[in-house]
Amino acid sequence: MNTPHNIYIHVPFCVAKCRYCAFFSRALRAPDWDTYTDRIIDEIGHFSGILGRISVPTVFFGGGTPSLMPPKKFATIMDAIYKHFDVAPYAEITIEANPGTLDNKKLGEFCAAGVNRMSVGAQSLDDEKLKFLGRIHNAYDARQLIDNGMRRGIRVSADFIYGLPGESVDDVIKICDEINRIGITHCSLYELTIEPNTPFGKMNLDMPTNDTMAEMYIAIQNNLKLPRYEVSNYAQDGFECRHNQNVWDGEPYIGIGNGAAGRIFLDATWYEELGGGKMFKPMSNDARAIERVITGMRTMRGVRTDPELKKILNIEFAKSHNDVLMFSGDRMRATDAGILVLDNLIEKLVK
Ligand code: SF4
Repeated sequence: MNTPHNIYIHVPFCVAKCRYCAFFSRALRAPDWDTYTDRIIDEIGHFSGILGRISVPTVFFGGGTPSLMPPKKFATIMDAIYKHFDVAPYAEITIEANPGTLDNKKLGEFCAAGVNRMSVGAQSLDDEKLKFLGRIHNAYDARQLIDNGMRRGIRVSADFIYGLPGESVDDVIKICDEINRIGITHCSLYELTIEPNTPFGKMNLDMPTNDTMAEMYIAIQNNLKLPRYEVSNYAQDGFECRHNQNVWDGEPYIGIGNGAAGRIFLDATWYEELGGGKMFKPMSNDARAIERVITGMRTMRGVRTDPELKKILNIEFAKSHNDVLMFSGDRMRATDAGILVLDNLIEKLVK
């Protein structure tokens, strides 16, 4: 029996590009959903030919804007996944949703097609800030969508961006208070990063200093009721995103659709894969172990220190830096101080 694989499906279309966005997505008012769905189904068939009838613990539709997709097309893709793979009975099936694209009726249709978790791209609950970010929705739309999801009893997460030009630590505390009041069980808070080749990248924005950003990050941990379980992710116990946790923990996953990446494990070999059939090449165990350090160390449970990992770890460094690193059972993780210098720490951890 082949190893279970999680599935990520990329939907690379958006109504309009947000001003900060460097994700693989295109602004298209009327994507060709028939062609797109056919391609995704072809890829599902292709991977089932390679991997056989594997078990699938999670399916994640990310983007882009998957909530733009007609629910019937979503259901067709899910049918293909059920046809080719053994989807676990309590599989987590997530859709990323942009509040400007999903009313309650359409959300109900996605839920009927299997969605049991929704990640809402709220980004802010301040209309001026949403306009500045180039979002297509207002704060009311975001609240409505979150409330609709919660009323339907599915798991709801919301994404927020902080550290906008002119924002202070108090603004971040205000976001935390709003999230606490809403009572969602999962949220992601991302620091605004300015990417080249985006409208923001050309605007010479007056961003908060690194010290202020670090204070904001600490303020989140001190004010949000949900505990942090990854650098930018917070959840009530048991409500973590299983898909992302599996991927960060080094489990294999199939990336389907243009712009999706996957890591396939087949006949004791890891393969690097790019959705759309662009790439499928073997990778060394060392390269895969380094990836596991990079993703696992971002999580609060840390990375499993199994024999593969020990081969690439700078053990001496790890043992002599207990201010930034700690060991618990078979896992190694960053301390609160370590999380603040994570990139540097990971660089030194790998031989
Ligand atoms: S909705 Fe998301 S993927 Fe689309 S442009 Fe905005 S940030 Fe980028």
